[in-house]
Order: sequence, then structure tokens, then C-alpha cells
Amino acid sequence: MRIVWRSVAAGLAAWLTGLLVVWPLLKLVAALGGPDAPLARTLGGTPGGVLAAAAGGTGVPVSWSVPMLGLAGRVTPGTMLAQGSSLVMLIAAPIAAGLMLRLLARRDLVPAAAVVHALAATGGTLLLGVLQRHEVAQLAVAPVAVGLATLIWSAGIGLVRLPRRAAVLPIVLVVAGVPLVATPAQAAAYRPPGVDGALATARKESGVGFAAVRDRRRGVPSTLTLHSAIGGGVDSWLRGHAGLFGVTDPASQLSLIRRTTDSLGVQHVRYQQVINGVPVFGAQVTVHLSAGGRYVQTVGNGLRADLRTPYTTPLVSAARAVQIARLALPGASPAQPPKLYLYPMSAGTAGARTDAPLVWEVALGDDNSGVANFYYVDARAGHVIAVRDGTEHVLHRIIYDLKNLAYGKVPFPAVARVEGGPPSGQQDVDEAYDGTGATYRYYQGFGRDSYDDHGSILASYVRASDFHNNAGWSQVREVMIYGPNMTAIDVTGHELTHAVTQYTANLMYHYQSGALNESFSDVFGVSVRRFETGASRWDIGTETAAGTLRDMAHPERYEQPGHMRDYVTTCSDNGGVHTNSGIPNKMYYLLATSIDPDKAEDIMYRALTEYLSPESRFLDARIGEIQAAWDLYGKGSDEAEAVSDAWDAVGLPDPEDATPPEDTPPDPDDPTCLCVLATAVSGNGGLDPSGASVDAVLASLLHMRDLISAGQTPALVRYGDLFYRYNDRLTALTDANPALKQQLARTIQIVQPAFAAVGTGAGNTTIVTAAMIAAVQSLLDAIAAADGGLLAVEINAVRAKADLNQMVGHPANQDLSYLDGHL
Ligand SMILES: [Zn+2]
Repeated sequence: MRIVWRSVAAGLAAWLTGLLVVWPLLKLVAALGGPDAPLARTLGGTPGGVLAAAAGGTGVPVSWSVPMLGLAGRVTPGTMLAQGSSLVMLIAAPIAAGLMLRLLARRDLVPAAAVVHALAATGGTLLLGVLQRHEVAQLAVAPVAVGLATLIWSAGIGLVRLPRRAAVLPIVLVVAGVPLVATPAQAAAYRPPGVDGALATARKESGVGFAAVRDRRRGVPSTLTLHSAIGGGVDSWLRGHAGLFGVTDPASQLSLIRRTTDSLGVQHVRYQQVINGVPVFGAQVTVHLSAGGRYVQTVGNGLRADLRTPYTTPLVSAARAVQIARLALPGASPAQPPKLYLYPMSAGTAGARTDAPLVWEVALGDDNSGVANFYYVDARAGHVIAVRDGTEHVLHRIIYDLKNLAYGKVPFPAVARVEGGPPSGQQDVDEAYDGTGATYRYYQGFGRDSYDDHGSILASYVRASDFHNNAGWSQVREVMIYGPNMTAIDVTGHELTHAVTQYTANLMYHYQSGALNESFSDVFGVSVRRFETGASRWDIGTETAAGTLRDMAHPERYEQPGHMRDYVTTCSDNGGVHTNSGIPNKMYYLLATSIDPDKAEDIMYRALTEYLSPESRFLDARIGEIQAAWDLYGKGSDEAEAVSDAWDAVGLPDPEDATPPEDTPPDPDDPTCLCVLATAVSGNGGLDPSGASVDAVLASLLHMRDLISAGQTPALVRYGDLFYRYNDRLTALTDANPALKQQLARTIQIVQPAFAAVGTGAGNTTIVTAAMIAAVQSLLDAIAAADGGLLAVEINAVRAKADLNQMVGHPANQDLSYLDGHL
């Protein structure tokens, strides 16, 4: 009996040794490697990779941090295996464990203790894996391998004579090493320290009028209205109020973008967050000083204190990044040189630290298809990890009545009319000419010289056939593009306002910031029309081929919410930017009909250009617009009161109000719209090695996304809608069922040639094979069986309308037409 207990004790001690011994090594690597210590993500043969692999070799996911260097990270066996470092991982930790076994156990007990050690490694790992659900699958291989390796090592070491007293040595090493290195790893639920205290201090020094909007995802305030003495300058003020930002020295991460003083004497200072010289995408801080510059009166805080370790040295060249992005848009050319960013992934649970991979932003525009996108290529792993629309449309989606794809060969016509030239006689040309002129003069009224305030040329392309019933501002090319008969003045004002926004608040075109972006375009679209015609109207697009698109006074008439209780949470349309814009639209309608509309426009312009920033949400807009009204008309003015009344009326009351009305809905979180298909393809490594590459498969998915978001055919609109609606459900199903996830990835790999070709010229010659249809059929069966609910019903409804087997042997484009006819 005693022998059994001794074996168990020795096995457990060996397991702990294997686990603990690697932490000093990690510390060493982090200290020697500097801020870019090549740890978890770069295990490919570097010394850091070797040692991190040893950590993973114990079978336990290790979170680590070195606060002194601002480093943190996570090492898991899954990472090791994915990076091909499994060989190394099987060496270091088992050696330590084997040594311990030899020292603690009698020679004849070594095999029994080694078995206990292997079981402990496996059991502990699986337990941790279950606690962190997602990694269970990844963890399955590592502990078994480690257990086997330990047995072999222990047997080997068992043949060597070692004095029993030497057992003290590793114990001393481990015990002495742990306090040095085992800084508690960042807890999974991240809360920046000191925020509550800093808020209380700011509230006290500001007195009445203090307001703060708390960003629940980042745990810090996103907008503050206060009255705080500046003291020794903005930098020292930032340092003194660091707790508001969740970092110890905000100024050290901020790079000045511009500092202006407006006609009211208010100073506006705008910063970009930069880490090791690399800007954090969308992360800006604005500080606004009272006239005279003695007080800070508003702060817009987009600083990301919640990022996991930033890696800031690219392993992939800019040229290679362009090559990778061009797989998704083969005919395109880069519109701007690639730029490096740290790209916070919007996924993650509230309060958890956010991954911010280093990416190349590649702006591609394809003149044939009219598609323009920003692709974000992971500058270390080399895959596209995100894509952003390069064109901001007046309308999200319209149902086309196209029998075949009118895709490609858009005539970008020769110059039809230039500044000062005579009317061309072509209605679209002259309307665009007049509309851009009116919009230019309208913004001139605010002292603005063109959209960028530097007199840039206003270029418009009219009668673009692939912009049928739509119009858009291309951020990539900085031009306006109109479909035939889409050149009404409110649409022109709408599109050019996207350009003004790009150069000022730069509201990100997703979720609430995107809905604000759309709403400001509608606000100034109708304002330009009022400026030119004198008519106060609230409809958008009525005089175009598309007909009325929205009604700001009655959003619900065009399927938009007009109140927060009807807010739509969706992954489609960049998170519902053309849907939820109804809420700020309604707010503006209420404002502009309760005060002088000229004043309402002044307030909105000031808020957009000075107080809002890329990730501003509705509540930030409320505070920014109230501040703008205070600046222009004074605190307690009727105008400021009207702004807050209007926001109250659409369900966004003062966040400082201790007793909000009972029917106030909570400010919704943004959904986490990671595409389940892309995740399956790039994540599980289950693709057939002889088939299309990961990059090619991802590229074909991005191509499908372009077709869907352009509403290319009725079938794509319908299936796209279904897909976005069930994205979450599919994610849950595939997370719970790795085999299904692999089947999903492999099916996309099989149909990849058809996906890549459809909607292009190649779609007329790329044949849909029996193998493709068989794979899709069996995937649909598997999903329907796994779901057994609404998704299964939808799948069966689709299959009842269209017989997929009819598609075998036909060109991809022809099959898409078949689907259009069987909805
Ligand atoms: Zn728009």
C-alpha cells in the first residue's frame, strides 16, 4: 500500500515539476527578447519558441505576463502542435519530470510513478480544457504524447544512479524560481485598474455637468464631460487622470494627429494610439479645452487598454500581403501603399482582453467589377483575418431583377463635364455636377473647403451599371459612384458627407458607429437639399430610380427602428448600419423640428467634426452633441435641452441619470460577427492537403461576401440573409461538434473553384461537378440533423424549392441563375 502511495506522490510531484520548471525559462526568454519576445505565436525554431514549447509540453495552457515589459500571452499545446514544435515540446518538460521521478522514487517504482505522472498530465490538461471549452479538441493529442515521452525518459533516467539527496536540488530550484516568475497571469476577465477611483475624482472636481459614458467592453469611459483644471499641460493632465484610460501613462501611447482652436476659442487636440510605432486601428483620443485653455471640458476616449500582447514586427512583407489579398480580388490593383496596424478583434467576451494581431491594411479596387475593399492580412501568420467595405453605400440592399449577372465591364466613362463647363445635356451628368456644387457650397458655410478641408477635387462617376439602384462613396478611390438615375441632390449630399466623416470623426462603418455614420449622411443629405431648394423634407432617395429609401420622421415605414427598444442586433449589413441609423435619424428629426433647423445643423456639424471619433456609439453622440450645443448656445440653453429631449425620446437617456425611465432598454452590445465559415477554414487545420490552399479557400469566401453585400442576384440575397441569420447557430453547432466543423471546412474546399468563379467571366466555364453537389448535400444533411430546429426547417425549405442535383455539369453562373429561378 505504501508503495502505491509513494508512486502516486512521486508521479504528481513529477507532473508539477514539469509544469513549474518552464516558467523561469519563459521569464528568461521574455526578458532577453524585448517587447517582441518571440513566444507563443512564433514557435518556428527560435529559442523563444523552443522554451515556450516546453511550457506547452506539460500539457497545460499557460497564461503568462511580465508587467515590467508590458508583455502577456498564452501558450497552449494546440499552439505548439499547430506550429510544428511538437518535437521540442516532447523533450524539455518530460526530462524535468523524469528526473524528479528518478530522485523521489526507488528505481523499481519509477514505471508506476511515471504512469501516474502521465495520467496526471492528461487528466489535468483535459480538466483545464473543459474549463476553457474551446480548446478541448486541440488538447487531445498533447497530453498523451507527453505521457508517453515521460515514460520513455523516466525509464532512461531510471538506469542512471543518482544520490537521493540530489532530489533537494530541483525542489529548491522550483521553489526559488516560482516567486520570481509566477506573476499571476492576467485574469480571464479583464478590468482595468483604478477606473472607478479616477471617475469618482473627476466627478468631484467637475461638479454639476459631469457626464460619463462607460464602454462595457473596454471597462473605461468612452466619453466624458467635465470641468478639470489643465495644470501643467495636456500630457500631465492625462498622466494625472490615467485611471480614466486604464493605463499608467496614456500620453506615452498617444501620437498627436492635430491640434486646432476653433472660432469659439475651444481647443481640440486629437491623438492616435500608437504601440511601438504601430497605430492601433480606430483607437483615437480627443481632448477638448475650454476657451482660454485652462480646463479640460470633454474627452473622447478610444484608447485600447484591453489589448493582449502586441507583436509589432511583421514577418510577412507588404508585397506578400498584397499578393495574399489579391487572391480575393484578382483583377484589382492596390489603391494605396499597405499600412501596418494593430487590429483589435471585436470578438471576445465583455471584459476579457482583446487580441490585436499585427496586420497589413491592403486597399484594393477592381475597376471591372466596381468592388473596393480594405483587406487586413495578419502580418505574422499571413492570412486575411478581416475585410472592410471600401465603399459606403446609400443603400444596403435592393432586390435585383436580373436574369443573368451584369457583373464586370463597367464603363467608367470619359469626362463628361468639368468645373465651369457647359451643361452636357445628359441628365445624370448635370445632376451630379449641380449636386456636388451645392454640397460643396453647403459645407463652405461651415468654413469647410471640400470634404477633406483641403480643396480636393470632387470626382463623380455616373451611370455605373453595377451600381444599379445604388450610389456610394468609395473610401478606397475617394470618388463618388452613382448607378443610372441615382443622382438626386439628397443622395449626393449623403455620399459626400461620408467623405467629410472619413476626414473628421472617421466613424467606423460597423455596428453603432456605422449607424451614426449612415445617419450623419442622411442628416446632411436632407440639409443640402434644404439649402439648395428650401424644402424641409425627411425622405431620402425619392427622386431616384430606387425610390424612397428611408424616412427620418417615420423610420418604421422603411423597416428601420425609431427607438432603442427596437434596436436590431445582426451580423448582416456591417452590423445593421442601414437599419439602426433610423434611431439617430429620428432623434435628428425631433431636434430639427423643435429648434431652428440651422442651429440643429450647426450642432450636428460641430459634434461630427470635433467631438466624435472612430468607435463612438449612440451615447457618445448624445454627449458630444450636447457639448456642441453648450459651446454654441450656452449651458442650459433651449438648444442643448432640445438635444437631450430628442435623445430621451428615442430611448437613450442621460447615462448619469440615477433613475432612468422604467422602459429604458439597455444599450445593446455589438454582436461578435466572426464568420463561422472563415473560422472553420482557417482554424481547424482539417483541409485536405491535396486540395485548394487555406488562402485560396478564404479568398473564395471573401469573393462570395462581395457578391452578397452587393446584392448581386436574388439567390445570393436570400442565401446571404439566411447565412447571416444563422451564423451564431452554426458557430454553436460546429464548436460542439469538431467533425461537423471539419466537414464544413472540407466542403468549402471542395466547392472552392465554383465559389471563386461564380459571378465572374470564369463562372461561364467553371463546371459544377457531381462531387461538389454531393459534398454540399451531405453537409446540409449533417447540419440539419445536428440542428433539428429552425435551421433544419430553413434548409429543407430551400431544398424543396431548388433541386441541387440539377446543377451538376453546368457552368457556375448558369447554376446561380437556376437558383434565382427557384426561390
Ligand atoms: Zn451611406
